[in-house]
Amino acid sequence: MNKNADRYLIELGEIVYRHDMQNVVGITMAHRHFKIKEGEQLVEEIKQYSSEIKPLTNVSDDGVIPFTWKLSRGKNGDLLWFPLEFVQVDTVSEDSINNELILRDSYDFLNEFSNTLVELGMEDVFGLCIVHREFNVLQNEILVETLEEKSRTLFFNVKSKSELTDTTLIPTFWCFDKKGNMLEAEAWKHCIGH
Ligand SMILES: [Zn+2]
Repeated sequence: MNKNADRYLIELGEIVYRHDMQNVVGITMAHRHFKIKEGEQLVEEIKQYSSEIKPLTNVSDDGVIPFTWKLSRGKNGDLLWFPLEFVQVDTVSEDSINNELILRDSYDFLNEFSNTLVELGMEDVFGLCIVHREFNVLQNEILVETLEEKSRTLFFNVKSKSELTDTTLIPTFWCFDKKGNMLEAEAWKHCIGH
């Protein structure tokens, strides 16, 4: 990752915080594990203690909401937030569904965030993701993403940190919290290996 990325992450987190969006949205590191084909959408299904993301076709708009977006230029050169990942709406909480609605209407936040992302040249590195914490992660635990290449499926599981001491974990989603005056980027999802 870009050597300034940590500093930029905090700068972007300050924008999240200033607009009081820290319980609504976090920042993702844009990364890809496999190619998706024309007509496929990445869809997450949240289960009781885990979740899965896989490419699906013929996804009904009523059944899913977007939860991850990347800033890209549209055909006429305008900056647009393109949805990258969707979640099955019947597997998420009311709060998560509301977060998507709040984000969609937060024009001032989205403008400032987009402009800053472009000024920093980080639009291909960081994206936005709504906060959807459907399962509890305790202090000594961590939410880990693993890939099953054959089925092009990503699995998210809560694991004990002590199980993972020999594993390289890459943070891929950060939420923001303020302890005193210091803004902290709390890594909420981690990916194993890239
Ligand atoms: Zn990953």
